[in-house]
Amino acid sequence: MRAFVDKDICIGCGLCPTIEPSVFRMGDDDKAEAYAEAEGDAKGNVLEAVDSCPVSAITADQ
Ligand code: SF4
Repeated sequence: MRAFVDKDICIGCGLCPTIEPSVFRMGDDDKAEAYAEAEGDAKGNVLEAVDSCPVSAITADQ
């Protein structure tokens, strides 16, 4: 599963890297980025991050 963060929307709250650090990290611009594909148990956490992002900046394919 691939995740994507729209940096134009992200407000840099830091939640998604907390939920799944193997997929999300904070960039030098203090916006989140999806740097790796989600494998195994991480997939559920990516979906949780999609639902939890306060500004709906995250999308994911299945
Ligand atoms: S949860 Fe949303 S707003 Fe917060 S860092 Fe991640 S993408 Fe940005």
